Amino acid sequence: MQQREKSFGIQMLSVQPDTKPKGCAGCNRKIKDRYLLKALDKYWHEDCLKCACCDCRLGEVGSTLYTKANLILCRRDYLRLFGVTGNCAACSKLIPAFEMVMRAKDNVYHLDCFACQLCNQRFCVGDKFFLKNNMILCQTDYEEGLMKEGYAPQVR
Ligand SMILES: [Zn+2]
Ligand SMILES: [Zn+2]
Ligand SMILES: [Zn+2]
Ligand SMILES: [Zn+2]
Repeated sequence: MQQREKSFGIQMLSVQPDTKPKGCAGCNRKIKDRYLLKALDKYWHEDCLKCACCDCRLGEVGSTLYTKANLILCRRDYLRLFGVTGNCAACSKLIPAFEMVMRAKDNVYHLDCFACQLCNQRFCVGDKFFLKNNMILCQTDYEEGLMKEGYAPQVR
């Protein structure tokens, strides 16, 4: 299940001096600057199109904005608030982007799911863990597995 991101392009337009000034959708004042931003079919001062969370000027940050629930957000905040990190490689459930995760190679895990999949040992920061056939293993189980021939770990 893939969530589509709601991103919208931002265009920077130079204002033709002989046209009627457009109203800014942010502050409702007329835009008399040399440049204006066009986004979401509205016009904005460069200063007025800002991320609702971090106040960064969206015209500068890569020319896309994200909206959700009437908020205008930069990509980073959008993903932080509404995005998903991916599926936990252990329990295959979605991990919301704001949740702390453990990462191993390309896999992400819930903190609670990040344990040796054979003996359930949890890992602390700095502990060694191993990935074999996409399973997380503690050092003991990993080394034991290496010693056995035809090693086939059982998924619980
Ligand atoms: Zn404005
Ligand atoms: Zn932001
Ligand atoms: Zn999980
Ligand atoms: Zn183990």
